[in-house]
Amino acid sequence: MRCPFCLAADTKVVDSRLVAEGDQVRRRRECLSCSERFTTYEGAELQLPRLVKSDGSREPFDEDKLRRGVQKALEKRPVGVEQIESSLNRIKHGLQASGEREVPSRVVGEAVMNELRLLDHVAFVRFASVYRDFQDLEEFRAEIDRLAESDPVVPAPTDTAS
Ligand SMILES: [Zn+2]
Repeated sequence: MRCPFCLAADTKVVDSRLVAEGDQVRRRRECLSCSERFTTYEGAELQLPRLVKSDGSREPFDEDKLRRGVQKALEKRPVGVEQIESSLNRIKHGLQASGEREVPSRVVGEAVMNELRLLDHVAFVRFASVYRDFQDLEEFRAEIDRLAESDPVVPAPTDTAS
């Protein structure tokens, strides 16, 4: 790690201990060039990243907003609260595990779509049609086709005459 005083590249750790009930490592370091000492704290980065919208503006991750969006898509669908919470936790965990401080907001949208695809196909289509703002019907149809291929439970078209 670079020395904050003389900017030399080589520093050595002279002491290392767990702090914050084991959640952080406190390290005493000494610069090999100027002999100054300084302290670093190392902890797992578990903050949720800020979201970068398509217009470049930033906003904090909003768990309630995420939950509302997912619940709206699942309105009157046979999916329990526990399943919804598990999905939300997976989405959050994925964002935390990335360690990124900022991610494009579409990353969250895609994560929601992946979860809804597993939970409930109707909800998935609802969310996708609003979220993706499909430019043309072909694109939307292609998405539905992919959905049908990925899961044989989806009822086939009822047109049996052909
Ligand atoms: Zn130094």
